Amino acid sequence: MTKLRFQRLLLPVAAASLLAVATAATPQAPTAGVAAAASRLGVDAQVIDDLVTANRILAHENIVDGYGHVSIRHPTRPNHFLIARSVAPEFVTADDIIEYDLDSNAVAPGEAREFIERFIHGEIYKARPDVGSIVHSHSPAVIPFSVSTVALRPVFHMAPFLAAGVPVWDAALVNDPEAKGILVRNRALGASLAATLGKKPVALMRGHGSVVVSRELKNTVKNAIFLETNARMQSAAIALGGPIKYLSMEEAMATLSGRGDPDRAWDYWKRRALAKH
Ligand SMILES: [Zn+2]
Repeated sequence: MTKLRFQRLLLPVAAASLLAVATAATPQAPTAGVAAAASRLGVDAQVIDDLVTANRILAHENIVDGYGHVSIRHPTRPNHFLIARSVAPEFVTADDIIEYDLDSNAVAPGEAREFIERFIHGEIYKARPDVGSIVHSHSPAVIPFSVSTVALRPVFHMAPFLAAGVPVWDAALVNDPEAKGILVRNRALGASLAATLGKKPVALMRGHGSVVVSRELKNTVKNAIFLETNARMQSAAIALGGPIKYLSMEEAMATLSGRGDPDRAWDYWKRRALAKH
């Protein structure tokens, strides 16, 4: 039996036992409070479960750490979005999910712990009716491309979404009194970022991080993970020296149209992330 196959056989057992321990040790298991949050926010329980899971996956895959966030457009109120309150993504639970309007005002009054950069989400949803989910992160391999003249381009088949080009937003070029703080602290800065993103699936933010957008949450999470992987690989290819043959647009399009089971990677990342708790 190969080592990989052996690990696959063991994994469900290990995950189940770890989850059992986690459930006993902490009331904040990933599924805790999902039904109540779903009722409070007017969505199916699966929507909440997936959004909490997305937080856990992005943390486990080192795309986010103490900072960074993921949101979805509200499934039945398209002028609203759902995102956690200001908590490290690894510790987000269903109780932390908050509903916002597209001006990034919390629907329920009195919310005190909000992400400073929630305007990223509100302004992109406003500008992009096709977008259903957004990841904002400071994943480290991507950031060098935000300060370099070297463009981020697709080097492997899991990052074909980069073939469309990756714009870089620079807060320093925005005429706003809060721009020097780099963070997207208000609606004007969020709108400027959304304008730079345009119709693309990814934009870098100079000296800061990135945004990844798409219609489906699972796809956005996948692209955020492979954005980081691609950046690492591209830096390695550049370090090798010599010319680099990136994926062509034709190859990228063919790769995008040939995808199999969209849930396979999600299930893999989910099991890994939840086994940790
Ligand atoms: Zn940020």
